[in-house]
Amino acid sequence: MEIRLALAGNPNTGKTTLFNALTGSTQHVGNWPGVTVEKKDGRLKSDKSVIIEDLPGIYSLSPYTAEEIVSRNYIIHDKPDAILNIVDATNLERNLYLSTQLIEVGIPVVIALNMMDVIRKNGDQIHTKKLGDMLGCEVVEISALKGDGIQDAVKKAVAVAKSKKEVVLKQKFSEEIEKVIQEISEIITGKADSRSLRWYAVKLLERDEEIQQDLQLNASELAKIEKLVTACEEIAEDDSESIITGERYAWIASVTEKCVHKKDISGMTASDKIDRIVTHRIFALPLFAVIMFLVYFISISTVGTMATDWVNDVLFGEIVPTYLGGALENLGLADWLYGLIMDGIVGGVGAVLGFLPQMLVLFICLAILEDCGYMARIAFVLDRIFRKFGLSGKSFIPMLVSTGCGVPGIMASRTIESDNDRRMTIMTTTFIPCGAKLPIIALIAGAFFPEQAWIAPSAYFLGIACVIASGIILKKTKLFAGDPAPFVIELPAYHLPGAGNVFRTMLDRGFAFIKKATSIVLVSTVLIWFLQSFNLHLEMVDAEESMLAGIGKMIAPIFAPLGFGDWKAAVASLTGLIAKENLVGTFGVLYGFEEVAEDGEELWATLGAAYTPVAAYAMMAFNLLCVPCFAAVGALRREMMSGKMTWFAVGYQCALAYIVSLMIYQFGTLLTTGAFGIGTVFAIACLLFVIYLLFIKKAWSPEKKTGLSLERA
Ligand code: GDP
Repeated sequence: MEIRLALAGNPNTGKTTLFNALTGSTQHVGNWPGVTVEKKDGRLKSDKSVIIEDLPGIYSLSPYTAEEIVSRNYIIHDKPDAILNIVDATNLERNLYLSTQLIEVGIPVVIALNMMDVIRKNGDQIHTKKLGDMLGCEVVEISALKGDGIQDAVKKAVAVAKSKKEVVLKQKFSEEIEKVIQEISEIITGKADSRSLRWYAVKLLERDEEIQQDLQLNASELAKIEKLVTACEEIAEDDSESIITGERYAWIASVTEKCVHKKDISGMTASDKIDRIVTHRIFALPLFAVIMFLVYFISISTVGTMATDWVNDVLFGEIVPTYLGGALENLGLADWLYGLIMDGIVGGVGAVLGFLPQMLVLFICLAILEDCGYMARIAFVLDRIFRKFGLSGKSFIPMLVSTGCGVPGIMASRTIESDNDRRMTIMTTTFIPCGAKLPIIALIAGAFFPEQAWIAPSAYFLGIACVIASGIILKKTKLFAGDPAPFVIELPAYHLPGAGNVFRTMLDRGFAFIKKATSIVLVSTVLIWFLQSFNLHLEMVDAEESMLAGIGKMIAPIFAPLGFGDWKAAVASLTGLIAKENLVGTFGVLYGFEEVAEDGEELWATLGAAYTPVAAYAMMAFNLLCVPCFAAVGALRREMMSGKMTWFAVGYQCALAYIVSLMIYQFGTLLTTGAFGIGTVFAIACLLFVIYLLFIKKAWSPEKKTGLSLERA
């Protein structure tokens, strides 16, 4: 017989860590809410008949957010055999708010009290047995990170699932409320699952419209309930939802008071002390800038570069061309086939794979920052700043996810309730350089600015600056007006990053990169090689006479004001739309590995000679900010749920990339060479326009109805 266990809990309590440990799955563990937006299932490693459903993290069973709806629908409609409720022991009061509601549903619950390692380290004590007795369910101490107690927790959950023993929450509301709950229960008896009667009654007392519809209550029943609710609201002089919330928290406080003994209530934990600096009003941001600088510096300019230089210059620059080239020559292959393999595949895919070491180092650094708890603090810190510009810290979470890949980044925007804020976040989140854009940054930094460490980190800060500027500008438009959504984030205690989590994140992203390099990028580079080797009559020609040059020359003038108006850069930017790594792959094909290797020059030296550094930086900025790859545009379309908005987003991204890149090239050239021309005039006009948009007073008051209203399914 199969047993279905639902894994439910607040965001950031270690659900994914526990799920991975129990099922052997490799879901991404993130140290911020919103990592699990959809439910996922897996089978228990030690007993395949047990299915574990990992539900999105939620704070309550109210239908306010997408996560709450997914989780609650699963629990009340699909009725798992038992709920394994993961609770962050370091944040007990907040977490028990959900636990009381889960127990109320009537499905057997076992509480897995997580982060016990932190509790022990702090010298605090939790009387688990007493807690369980007071709540009315079993409580097991675990540390998902260390794997302690997790088998015991599952065993107990399976046992309660099998026993089908009814659970009853021991909490009682005040007398009047209990009376109303009783009366509502009588009205709905027979309409709702008898186990969950009390839970339904409480929800109806809270005027939960979805539940009213779910139970198909008729007008007279609804009227009776409304009368009861209004009467008790009049007595308590408060709305029913607040009464219930207030009483729940009061009861929880009385429970934790009896069960939790903090070692030193007045003393600050190590985490608190670190937070005093890390989230400090003044130091927080400079510290973040320094940390991100170091991350990019380590991964792109130092450690990662050594490995990448070897892969690029020695492996794909010398070893592969010498041996593979020699072997192919011995085979006496036709010229075109030799060219396809050496210039197309080795040149293109090799160029992209060459950046793998830098990427892995970057991902390790980011995973460490995320896992130890630092990134959650940054979301909190940025919320303070974002809020001034009408954005919410919630918008930063998708951006953090986007440092890996824009597709899940765009999807993570689902945690933002306000339609306007969500759409704006979807539009701007891909300005943050994702993994696929890293080779572009590394290429430009390495080939044009070998001595300047600030180039790579500047790409990240340019992304953030564009997000903030876009936020300020877009918030003033009718389409995005509105106050920022409130932002609540758990700040879990700092801990040493789990090697497993960090490694898994790095491997996941590394493999995804290799997979892309050997599929999409491979096909694209072969196509590029073909187009640059043949003319329209399918005769092998020099690249300058090829079909590709023809196409490139048509679009190149568009990029001339940005400093890279030659056909090669134009084509490379175009192929970047399929996958951003393609830009590097295309350069690999067009500038050829083989010739470079033969004369022993630095791999990218030929590229370095083709553009000025300012033009190269402008090209990088354009490709980082412009429309993301097709996959991300697909995700954008799905999440926008509107073709019109998708076009608007794509148009905005193109325009922004063009303007930023134009200003970089024109002002950069003016400063470095003193050249002043019509392009400079345009750049000045753009700058004035941007300043005007940034500082103009709000054009639309938030109260006005927005033109486009999107309902989430
Ligand atoms: P989810 O959002 O509930 O899925 O939580 P995650 O599994 O993503 O974990 C959130 C953070 O808490 C991660 O940084 C984990 O490494 C950390 N974490 C999870 N379990 C434990 C634990 O038992 N002890 C400690 N110290 N940290 C944990």
